[in-house]
Amino acid sequence: MARKISVSVDHDICVGNAMCITIATKAFELNEERQAVSANPDGDTEELILEAAENCPVAAITVTDADSGEQLFP
Ligand code: SF4
Repeated sequence: MARKISVSVDHDICVGNAMCITIATKAFELNEERQAVSANPDGDTEELILEAAENCPVAAITVTDADSGEQLFP
């Protein structure tokens, strides 16, 4: 079974270009301030979520193992 993933977005640096949402369409969504927030990390694969984090132009996304707390990205 796939491990549970948790994502967080640093709103001090997110520029809201929605790149992460384009890649991981379920894990992220834009809030009313047009910044990315965690939506449903279980809806996308770990691979896709990591790809989204790697492609964020300002490196605003942190990905962790939801159970162990291990930081997976960056
Ligand atoms: S890719 Fe990065 S900057 Fe763009 S919306 Fe997602 S978290 Fe924000």
